[in-house]
Amino acid sequence: MHLMDYHHHTNNSFDSIALMEEICENAIKNKIKEICFTEHFSVNPLAPTYGHMDFDKYFDEIRYCREKFDTQLTIKAGLELCEPHLLMDTYKETLQRFTLDFILGSVHNINNQKLRLVLKEKGQQAYQLYFEELYQMVSYADIDVIAHLDLMKRYAYKEYGLYSFHEYQEVIQQVLKKAIERNIGIEINTSGLRASLKQALPSMKIIQLYKDLGGEILTIGSDSHTADSVGANLNEAYALAKQCGFKYIYKFEKRKPLAVKLSGV
Ligand SMILES: [Zn+2]
Ligand SMILES: [Zn+2]
Repeated sequence: MHLMDYHHHTNNSFDSIALMEEICENAIKNKIKEICFTEHFSVNPLAPTYGHMDFDKYFDEIRYCREKFDTQLTIKAGLELCEPHLLMDTYKETLQRFTLDFILGSVHNINNQKLRLVLKEKGQQAYQLYFEELYQMVSYADIDVIAHLDLMKRYAYKEYGLYSFHEYQEVIQQVLKKAIERNIGIEINTSGLRASLKQALPSMKIIQLYKDLGGEILTIGSDSHTADSVGANLNEAYALAKQCGFKYIYKFEKRKPLAVKLSGV
């Protein structure tokens, strides 16, 4: 199996202290063939991640690791943008100088409020607000893939349990249709499988609906923030993709999606 981890953070992200070189070494040990770093980045001074990213350092490390691990590991340079449908001109202006392979789009905040706080204030209504914000993102943002599509459950499930897919099916379907129309993919984010949530983000029903609506662009990522969890639970995500009928998963090069056949299908 050609394992690829398309969502990984290093100390170039505000919430990680992991070293890129060490992550690459572990990736090779774990038989991962390709890794895409997706560092948090925001141009919004109110976002927690604002001001952390040093692009020179990031690209120096990418170059160093590409040279060092050469044929053993393919290394891609990506970003995970916070609310990229807001401040779009600033994002564009900032990012046009860089050659990026891949851009994940995330809703981590609504009206500059962290999802956890939105949940505290609005209760379960926060789900609807979250999916509506995601619809805005997928309608306007310049991104390749939607990160952790049902992220609100990470915060909500402890208090409210897992959400009912049917309750939000309409807005979820709108998000997925818009993504397909704009050639934006979704990811299977395995971070939830390692947490007490014990479920991938998004849930299988959403991945299945995306497929049924004609969606093809699917990436798989651990969303790991440490060197020991690189590639964690990827095999489960590959199995889930197959179960939902996908024959390919995707990698990206200079923001072009490229299909990789899933073995055994
Ligand atoms: Zn995220
Ligand atoms: Zn992430």
